[in-house]
Amino acid sequence: MADCLKGYRKIVLLTFPPEVSGNPVVCVIAKKYDISFSILQAQITPRKEGHMTLELCGPEENYKLAMAYLQEQGVRITPAAETISRDDDSCVHCGMCTAMCPNDSLSLDPVTRRVLFDSERCTACGMCTRVCPVKAMHADVDMEQLH
Ligand code: SF4
Ligand code: SF4
Repeated sequence: MADCLKGYRKIVLLTFPPEVSGNPVVCVIAKKYDISFSILQAQITPRKEGHMTLELCGPEENYKLAMAYLQEQGVRITPAAETISRDDDSCVHCGMCTAMCPNDSLSLDPVTRRVLFDSERCTACGMCTRVCPVKAMHADVDMEQLH
């Protein structure tokens, strides 16, 4: 998965109704809202409905504005489900992620001073993936769900 230097990254499936399929709405969000994108998959069905899976990257506020714009244009948006995992060999137990985690999925064991990751609690908000200095926290996207 590409690094997103602008901070916020999402993978979404966009479904374009036939009357919107030919419009350059993705180029509009790139220009107007400073969102960069990579097309992971694109197809047009026999009913002329368009489907496009995109990796989007940009400032979080702009991402929300861009999604609102797409919805106004009649585009249906399905965010990809993500799960978060940790590479235990890379983690140096610095504790940075525990400060960001909103629901204590990441916590410091007071006895061992090691950071524990409870994947059952994790809501995949992605905050830890942005702060980890050694990139031990990963977002894994379920692409199957989008097909
Ligand atoms: S920020 Fe990264 S290296 Fe530090 S404790 Fe969390 S997962 Fe481990
Ligand atoms: S993705 Fe969010 S909820 Fe899950 S461990 Fe990271 S910071 Fe906590």
